[in-house]
Amino acid sequence: MIHLKKAVRTAEADQEGVHDIVSKMLAKIAVGGEAAARDYARELDKWNGEIIVTPEQRAAASAAVPEQLKADIRFAHNNVRRFAEAQRATVSDCTIEILPGLTAGQKQIPVSATGCYVPGGRYSHVASAIMTITTAKVAGVPHVAACSPPRPGLGIPPAILYAMDLCGADVILSMGGVQGVAAMANGLFGLPKADILVGPGNQYVAEAKRILFGQIGIDMFAGPTDSMVIADATADPEMVAYDLVGQAEHGYNSPVWLVTSDRNLADQILRRVPELIETLPELNRHSAKASWADFAEVILCEDAEEMARFADELAPEHLHVQCKDLDWWLGRLKSYGSLFLGEETTVAFGDKTSGPNHVLPTSGAARYTGGLSVHKFMKTVTWQRATREASRPLAEATARISRLEGMEGHARSADIRLSKFFPEEDFD
Ligand code: NAD
Repeated sequence: MIHLKKAVRTAEADQEGVHDIVSKMLAKIAVGGEAAARDYARELDKWNGEIIVTPEQRAAASAAVPEQLKADIRFAHNNVRRFAEAQRATVSDCTIEILPGLTAGQKQIPVSATGCYVPGGRYSHVASAIMTITTAKVAGVPHVAACSPPRPGLGIPPAILYAMDLCGADVILSMGGVQGVAAMANGLFGLPKADILVGPGNQYVAEAKRILFGQIGIDMFAGPTDSMVIADATADPEMVAYDLVGQAEHGYNSPVWLVTSDRNLADQILRRVPELIETLPELNRHSAKASWADFAEVILCEDAEEMARFADELAPEHLHVQCKDLDWWLGRLKSYGSLFLGEETTVAFGDKTSGPNHVLPTSGAARYTGGLSVHKFMKTVTWQRATREASRPLAEATARISRLEGMEGHARSADIRLSKFFPEEDFD
């Protein structure tokens, strides 16, 4: 394996500073409540308006969005909903008679309240509204709150608000960043306290979720978006170059990797990507340029197996395979947030419209978790009951194990059942 281009930086550089800022903000909001959250909205987002979006504002947003864009949002919502419904259908309860008379089961119960963070600082993340709110609704969460940063003097951009409303948010807050997260976690502005907070966001949002974890559940701790393309000699270099540039656009510190077994393709990409970046609009160009210069890697491998091993080690958030024999890749690869097979699809489809969720594990977390799904909103809980006859062997074994462990109170809970249910017998 040869690194034709190496990353010169790692993404976690200023995490300590962010932690200090966010923990101070959360502490202030925990004490100062709504007033403290409003202060941060004023200071950071220049927002003085109402926090809870009214039905009239929802209707006005719908009226302001062009019909074609609304149709596109409905298209994406429908695809994401259908995928989430298919996931929901795989979630089932079970019951088993473990011993004669001892029955136990497992139930899937949605959380009572969730908070969905819809990022909105730099880009208008319409798709994040669709991915989070729709999935919570399909999971059966009774109360879904969603928040997004307001633009100064304007509020949440109409397209995001339209998507939040369409997907079924019960309450929408014009509040972003740490203050938005804290409002949903602490139950400010009349909300129920969220049981779980989901959704992507910048480093302040991600850190707030991480600090709050324990007090509430979170979907995952998300770092900068990362993407890998695996391409062999059959790939179209122009398409691969466009895909890498699209993913580098996410942020200045978004890692992108090209893993290839074809030296010629690698050379073409190394030449073409900087050219394409130069053609992006200014803001996007800055992000993509920094991402490509500092965080991108191009790796030349011997063969498909070596490429697959490398991908599994990095466990990328997005993994796009543009190679022959796609079924082999689907069977072979083990660690990724979401997999895209063949040049007919692309990560941008998954990010915006196609159906599988775009809230995905970053920074190698795909080694141990998948992305957002209906399962994240559901608790797998268990129950049991027993007949008196079945309680006998359970009580006898429980008492002996408890005494061995030194837990006399547990043993006596077992003993009292034996003496109540089988009074004629002597268990000493
Ligand atoms: P954002 O909504 O995450 O953050 C904006 C908020 O940050 C503002 O409301 C403000 O209150 C707060 N903020 C800004 N500067 C601050 C400071 N100095 N101190 C404290 N708070 C501050 O929007 P964004 O910044 O554009 O970031 C969006 C993020 O979401 C990006 O990192 C993007 O990559 C990520 N994203 C990820 C996915 C995914 O699924 N992986 C999808 C969409 C977006």
